[in-house]
Amino acid sequence: MKSSKNPHLTDPLKRYWYLCLLYVLFSYALTQILVLGSDRIADATDNLFAGEAIVLQEFMVPFIVLMLLGGAAAFGKSYSKNTFSIRMQTDMRNMLIGKLVKIRTVYFDKEGTGALMNKLLSDMYQIEALFAECIPELLVAFVSIVTVCVYIGIQSVRLLFVTVVCYPILLWIANRLTKAVGAVAAVRRQLYDDLENSAYDAIQGILVGKAFNLYELQKKRIDHIEDDIVKNESHRTKVLAANYVMGDLVRWIPKLICYLFCLYEAGKGRMSVGAIFAYVMLLDQIARPMGNIPGQIASIKEYAVSVRRLQEVLNQEEEMSGTGDFVPEGDTVIELSHVSFGYSEEKEVLKDISLTVKKGSSVAFVGRSGGGKSTVMKILCGFYYPQKGQYRIYGHDFGEWDIGALRRQIALVSQNVFLFPGSIAQNVAYGRIGASREEIMDACKKANIHDFIMQLPKGYETEVGERGARLSGGQKQRISIARAFLKDAPILLLDEPTSAVDVETEQGIQEALREISRNRTVITIAHRLNTIEDADEIYVFEDGRIAERKVRANGIQ
Ligand code: ADP
Ligand code: MG
Repeated sequence: MKSSKNPHLTDPLKRYWYLCLLYVLFSYALTQILVLGSDRIADATDNLFAGEAIVLQEFMVPFIVLMLLGGAAAFGKSYSKNTFSIRMQTDMRNMLIGKLVKIRTVYFDKEGTGALMNKLLSDMYQIEALFAECIPELLVAFVSIVTVCVYIGIQSVRLLFVTVVCYPILLWIANRLTKAVGAVAAVRRQLYDDLENSAYDAIQGILVGKAFNLYELQKKRIDHIEDDIVKNESHRTKVLAANYVMGDLVRWIPKLICYLFCLYEAGKGRMSVGAIFAYVMLLDQIARPMGNIPGQIASIKEYAVSVRRLQEVLNQEEEMSGTGDFVPEGDTVIELSHVSFGYSEEKEVLKDISLTVKKGSSVAFVGRSGGGKSTVMKILCGFYYPQKGQYRIYGHDFGEWDIGALRRQIALVSQNVFLFPGSIAQNVAYGRIGASREEIMDACKKANIHDFIMQLPKGYETEVGERGARLSGGQKQRISIARAFLKDAPILLLDEPTSAVDVETEQGIQEALREISRNRTVITIAHRLNTIEDADEIYVFEDGRIAERKVRANGIQ
């Protein structure tokens, strides 16, 4: 069995660290150019005060060279930053989508669709900001501050001391002020999950909502969440506003102290006018990034919440998969022995199920609703795993199969039909990607839906709407049957395939099913007796157990 380690959200950093390094190098080069430029100005100013005439050419040529170099460095800096951020984002998004399709079905049972969408969109935006803005800015701040400090230190250690002494205290206060930010952000993201879930439910169930007058109830639920969001936002705003003020203080207090110190030093004759000039220009290179740090601390605390939430998705268990891609052979197709299963630990839904399905046979599951028939089919498709017992298919244990290879053997028509937005032709073609139009039509003819499709003004190109909203229940069901026909798999699982069609259409489909069942192994969950007539074997489900097994006299046994 493949046991792959869970990916980490920051894995793409291993691939793109060099872009980040390039960015730091370009930033360093740019700051050095600025330092050199101010050095030139300091010299020129001092020379001027000393009464020396300035030769314009001597002054300008190095400046133009520095400007050109500065332009090149700025270009490299911006280019490497944007490339880094876009590559990181793309890889992280691909990683999440790639993970999502592999996560076990149970996760989707407990995580609401709205919450998951919120994570994929909103939290992803947060992380984009982290890699596009926050991290690059912090790195640049670090590089500029160190470069400028080294320059100032070379000029005067006393000046360097005064320049940096205030910052640690101010940053410490800023960090304390933003202590609550992480907790507030975690609550905020959870509230938006709830809001998305409620909105999603209200939209999905819009007709039930209307029919049962649930508007007030739904609105109350959403209002309640929104009240909490407003409270949370107001708390957040206060913390961030305090932090903003802190940023300004970090920018101005040290600047002011430094100016005063410069004046003092100049008075003592330890600093020239040119040096003060250069220093003032450079100080901005420290004060600006330093002033931004309190805001960045707060942002990072918020982004960390999103990183954790997305990492939780990446940490989910993946579907089991072996490596076997076996040839379907042998007389026994499916074998369940003493299978027990529950969606949760509290309730066992299947209890000690044992059954064998022979090649080419037609098996029917019957029994009251809630008996566990659909659950058996979900286990056969590998959506859930038995907690006890064994599931073998074509003589190989389920765990030995590559999950994709196993699913190629099975075509499922599930009880809850799902159609993707798109045309009818596209929806049928999902049965077998790359199928020709003739094959699609052929499948639709067998599923008794071709004539209906041809009556539509746009025929096979008719859009089905979200979840197939523009079609009737029976039409959707027949399209999903056509999809399964097109897949042409050796095992066909039909979960109440004709529950939503009228008796006449049903007869047509039954005929088609009989036709397609000829060389296949078919398990049908039947809700009407006429389906059972064709069955070689019938299993009666009752409360998660097989209560009875009937074998047709001339059936396969
Ligand atoms: P049948 O198809 O025979 O009507 P099912 O297999 O759909 O019955 O359901 C069997 C039992 O499992 C029911 O009690 C149902 O409530 C429960 N059940 C079905 N799906 C889920 C799920 N995703 N999570 C939790 N319980 C479920
Ligand atoms: Mg069912």
